[in-house]
Formats: sequence, C-alpha cells, structure tokens
Amino acid sequence: MTSETPVLDIRDLHKAYGALEVIKGVSFSAHRGDVVSLIGSSGSGKSTVLRCANLLEDSQQGDILFKGEPVRWKGAGHNRRPADPKQVLRIRTNLSMVFQQFNLWAHMTILQNVMEAPLTVLGRDRAEVEHAARGYLDKVGIGDKADNYPAQLSGGQQQRAAIARALCMEPEALLFDEPTSALDPELEQEVVRVIKDLASEGRTMLIVTHDMKMARDVSKHVVFLHQGLIEEEGPPETLFRAPKSERLRGFLSSTM
Ligand code: ADP
Ligand code: MG
Repeated sequence: MTSETPVLDIRDLHKAYGALEVIKGVSFSAHRGDVVSLIGSSGSGKSTVLRCANLLEDSQQGDILFKGEPVRWKGAGHNRRPADPKQVLRIRTNLSMVFQQFNLWAHMTILQNVMEAPLTVLGRDRAEVEHAARGYLDKVGIGDKADNYPAQLSGGQQQRAAIARALCMEPEALLFDEPTSALDPELEQEVVRVIKDLASEGRTMLIVTHDMKMARDVSKHVVFLHQGLIEEEGPPETLFRAPKSERLRGFLSSTM
C-alpha cells in the first residue's frame, strides 16, 4: 500500500432496505490518520453508511476498498453478498466499531469485555491480550474498573470501556456511531476527551456524531448527508463557517 492508498474508500455506495432506498450513491475516503465525521439529520443514512462500510450490512451497488483491497462480491443487486468470509472478518476486525449503546456484555467484567474478541476472534495469546487490555483501560482512564461489571459503571465509563475494547483489536480504523448520544452532558465530555486524544495520536476514525463542536475540533473532513446523498462536504473550517447549501445552514442552526 502506498501512502496515497486510503484505509477506507467508499465509492458510489447504494443500499436499500427492501424497496426503501436509503443510501443513493455515497463516496468518500479516509486516509491513515484522517478523522472523517458524518453529520446529518436523523434518518439521513449515517449509521447505514457506517454499517455497510464494515460489512455489518449488505449493500447493493458500489465499491468498498480496505487499504486498496476491494470487497469481493457474489451476486448482484438485492442478491449481492460478500464472497469471501475471511475477507469480511479481516475487514470487520480492522474497522472496529463503537456503538451508541456501548454494547458491553453484562455478564463479563470490563477486563473480560475488552479481552474477549482478541482472544476468540483473533486467537491471540491470553497474557499478551491481558497486558494490552489493561493498558487500553488505563489509557481511557478506567484502569481501576477492570474487575467491575458494566452495570457498576457510569454511562461515560461504559463507553470508554467500549472504546478500550475497540482499541484492543488493534484495528486500522475506529468507527464511532453517535458515541456520546446516550450520555448525560457531563459524561459526554469524558468520552469526547478520549476521542480527541485518539485523534491527536493520528488514529484513523470515522465518526457519526450530533456533536458539532467535537466534529469541528477533531475532523479533517466532514460529510453532511441528506436523504442518503452527500449534500455538502469539506474541511470543518469551511463547512461550519461558510456552509453553501441551504439545508446544511438549516441543519447547523438547529444543532449549534
Ligand atoms: P441515521 O443514522 O442518519 O439516523 P439510518 O442509517 O439509521 O440513519 O437510517 C437511514 C434510513 O434507513 C431511515 O429511513 C431508517 O428508517 C432506515 N432504516 C435503518 N435501518 C433499517 C432497517 N433495519 N430496516 C429498514 N429500514 C431501516
Ligand atoms: Mg444513526
């Protein structure tokens, strides 16, 4: 891979749920170290784009390239599926997702949550994984919660555990789907702080967020989706300071 090859390159993506077309030709890419934010109204297709990108959802048309390697498909249209389960696993484990609702396993301790996928999916050595997991928990500021269960943590702590869990996969990129939306405002900031730290370390990240301040602070590129299409995109300075489209202006005035 050359330095010019994006980590993730999405080209002309189309996705429908049955007859309902929700992504109608979306293209963007993220190079190593880029933070790309997806913004837009509820229902505009942000989560769907993220879920298609890491192959949690099928798409009917368009290309998805991971480090220059196109996803191989079999079938077409509504019958299109990824052809190679090994490729799907490789891409999915390299685009680690953090969800709005944390999705921690309630019956496992925080440490077990962070260790689970590297052990079972990647088959890594237990002692090494534990060492790494404790390191990531320290990094997100909850090293002292390793032996607690999710229900014993605040929402902000649970989301930071979910971020440690994503990091422990040592992915090429992190995908965040509204990581702060389920949190009270005072807890939101502790998660924003962690995301900012990751951005300043040069992590490649794709972030769906309603937090325009965070999007402005951390992004290299911002994509504004409207009804399954990119209505406007650009660097945050331009997009937030001088939005061109009426829709984006309206959206920003309703959220900022
Ligand atoms: P956003 O994340 O921007 O709020 P989504 O990607 O969740 O938007 O949804 C885009 C559109 O797809 C919406 O119209 C939503 O109702 C629809 N949609 C999302 N998930 C499903 C699903 N599993 N089945 C049917 N329609 C869905
Ligand atoms: Mg969503």
